[in-house]
Amino acid sequence: MTAEASLSAHQLTHSDLIINGEEVAARSGDAFQRVSPAHDVPVGSYARGDADDVAAAIAAARTAFDSGPWPRRSGQERARVLHRTGELIRREREDLARLEALESGKPITQALDEVDAAADLWEYAATLARHSFGEAHNHLGTDVLAMVVNEPIGVVSIITPWNFPLLIVSQKLPFALAVGCTAVVKPSELTPGMTARLGRLLLEAGVDPGVVNVVTGQGGVGAAMSAHPDTDMVSFTGSTAVGRKVAAAAGAQLKRVELELGGKNPQIICADADLDAALDAVVFGVYFNAGECCNSGSRVLVEASIAAQFQEALVERARRVPVGDPLDRATKVGAITSAEQLATIERYVAEGRQSGSDLLMGGARRPSERGCFYEPTIFAGVQPEMSIANEEIFGPVLSVLSFDDLDEAISIANSTMYGLSAGIWTSNINSALTAAQRLQAGTIWVNRWMDGYPELPFGGYKTSGEGRELGSQAIGSFTQTKTIQLQVGPRTARWVPESGN
Ligand code: NDP
Repeated sequence: MTAEASLSAHQLTHSDLIINGEEVAARSGDAFQRVSPAHDVPVGSYARGDADDVAAAIAAARTAFDSGPWPRRSGQERARVLHRTGELIRREREDLARLEALESGKPITQALDEVDAAADLWEYAATLARHSFGEAHNHLGTDVLAMVVNEPIGVVSIITPWNFPLLIVSQKLPFALAVGCTAVVKPSELTPGMTARLGRLLLEAGVDPGVVNVVTGQGGVGAAMSAHPDTDMVSFTGSTAVGRKVAAAAGAQLKRVELELGGKNPQIICADADLDAALDAVVFGVYFNAGECCNSGSRVLVEASIAAQFQEALVERARRVPVGDPLDRATKVGAITSAEQLATIERYVAEGRQSGSDLLMGGARRPSERGCFYEPTIFAGVQPEMSIANEEIFGPVLSVLSFDDLDEAISIANSTMYGLSAGIWTSNINSALTAAQRLQAGTIWVNRWMDGYPELPFGGYKTSGEGRELGSQAIGSFTQTKTIQLQVGPRTARWVPESGN
């Protein structure tokens, strides 16, 4: 199907909030539309929820947790619902991917991959639902037996961003559900469609009423969700600036917080690396999802002896990346998700130009009859103190720095406030292991870049986050520990002296 035919085939539908298992209009009666950032046409209509709707959603989640069946179901029963949700996501694959491409601006092929990866997360979480168990202690003395059990933490507020609208909610929600939590989910107002659809698929899969509540909206919804006293945890993915606010609000009430925030992720390219593979990974790393990616490889540190040749090859390769209509299957870089984000990218590129670095390519909006597009951009001669070297741009903008030895490379790599991911390209095992040990980041890639697996924990060092998603540890993110100590036989010891002694 051509891009135009695919756009025409899309039908604009309206989604209401989901509260207590029902699809309901916002209490205010308001709604909003999402306009495709690539095509300038409305592609979705959503109820505009506010703090009152948040309160109703949290009340439903609270009741479902405190007295509903979900937390009391067996792991097997919860696993069935999660697995079925994964199947339903796969059933809706084409429709979900098209809506995701239309709302986010990302290429349809990458949206399809994201839908597949999301389904896989639901299926993986289903396996964990049956593996949430604690420990037993039988070596504490003959009169005591103890067990340590995991219990669901309770009601979780989940606030998700626009760059991976189905994947990121699927990194959180199924894991919370697996252990028996209930949730209120707020997607970005830029990409509400995936969460609205997911909420309906969950009802079809058999999740109990009130277990998953979806509030679409903008402005004050997220804040109401993180400040509400009746939730037990907030899980947020987005900017470090908003992450700090979420943590402050949650901290004021001592509720648990899990944050997945920004990154300025370095790839170190040593002279002894497989340079062809590294080049491809650098281009992929920064232009995948138009750079709107917490794991974007937006900084590359190249060994000085090969810097000139590497930069030349980089530009040649980057010029071949197909940019265009997200619905065109040949496209690798689609639209920028919002005009605001486009303005952010332009501001950083202006700073890059003023800072004295060399603009090797791009550096401007991409001319197009409609939509928000930005040219793949490369700056060379970047110095570590420049804003384009240490701040998250969230766009298709690569900063190339150079280094003389591995110590310097690691020092530059670690010099930002972020620590989400980092990588090294080398054929020297000692360089690889040294970097893996000394780079301050939650994920280290050696001779590969930006792949992820449900089995592997994901999260950031420093201001890139708090806590971890995925992996078997994901159970611990949404549970609290209870210690149960049992007396074996009669309690014979007495603390109070016997009377008459
Ligand atoms: P933000 O990260 O700033 O987050 C916006 C979301 O946070 C909205 O859903 C908003 O809800 C909610 N929110 C705002 N204030 C609060 C609060 N006090 N408590 C709880 N939730 C709150 O996203 P932006 O779209 O503004 O993007 C800005 C930058 O963030 C990007 O340029 C990029 O650098 C980074 N980013 C990082 C992502 C990542 O994957 N790590 C993903 C997306 C963005 P409401 O509308 O109801 O206020």
